[in-house]
Amino acid sequence: SPIPDYLAHVLEKARPNEGGAAADYIETLAKADTSKMAVALAMVDGNFYSAGDDNIEFSIQSISKSFVYAIAIEDAGLEQVLKKIGVEPSGDRFNQLSLERSTNRPMNPMINAGAITAHSLVVSPTANLQERTDRILKVLSKLAGRELHVDEEVYKAELKDADRNMAIGYMLKATGIITCDPREAVKGYIRQCAINVNVKDLAMMSAVLSNGGVHPVTGEQIIPHTSVRQVLSVMTTCGMYDAAGDWVSNVGFPAKSGVAGAIMGSLPGQVGLATFSPKIDERGNSVRGVAMCEQLSRDMGLHMMDVS
Ligand code: GLN
Repeated sequence: SPIPDYLAHVLEKARPNEGGAAADYIETLAKADTSKMAVALAMVDGNFYSAGDDNIEFSIQSISKSFVYAIAIEDAGLEQVLKKIGVEPSGDRFNQLSLERSTNRPMNPMINAGAITAHSLVVSPTANLQERTDRILKVLSKLAGRELHVDEEVYKAELKDADRNMAIGYMLKATGIITCDPREAVKGYIRQCAINVNVKDLAMMSAVLSNGGVHPVTGEQIIPHTSVRQVLSVMTTCGMYDAAGDWVSNVGFPAKSGVAGAIMGSLPGQVGLATFSPKIDERGNSVRGVAMCEQLSRDMGLHMMDVS
């Protein structure tokens, strides 16, 4: 197949781009090897391709927000989730302390306030941290097709520097959006962000979204169909934070980025893809990752508004 060669070419084309810097709010991310790059494509028919440093593991970070939103919808019901979390792009930074004025809801589930709320709805509002993180780890492992683990070093480091996320947790508690102990919700959220993956895992997980919630290889319905539509819609409008508009017009498929340098993209009915390169821009999106996704979208005709 010429596809692996093509993917290697995509990597080399983006490599000279030296923009951005590794996230430096914790030591573990700051010391990431910024020369590492990888890309993976998982077709909904089960075909799979990858190139570059495709076994390098990194923390999933904010990409977990997509899947935890799906789990919250399954566990609490869409109606309840919509009462607690909006679906409007915020235009703010991902860790902004902000809520909708009239409803007190976080603007959307892709910023931290919405993601911490989604986490609090996993299993049940009265569940504990262990029960929630077990459920999340189980679903994410099933999506990836292998057993995933929490990076305890990342978890500990994030927890030591969690003042801002704790502030968001207390803000949510004060306004009645979450009802559990805000520290438990924030700790659980930080734990879900510290799950280690590689680009192959992310492409596979994304392909499940592209395939209506059914795993392309095992055939198992892992995410209910209605949740998939909701998740992909919110990824389209909010997945790249305050770069969402730029992203939709240039790249044109639902996507989610994480501060460790990964981007996960999903074109419904076609493909799940993932890129990795640690240097991120001021909005928190991988610089080379954005370049690679633009290239893939152009070359493979992945823009959802294009008629093929
Ligand atoms: N753990 C990070 C945080 O909550 C994740 C953010 C991200 O990937 N954008 O600040």
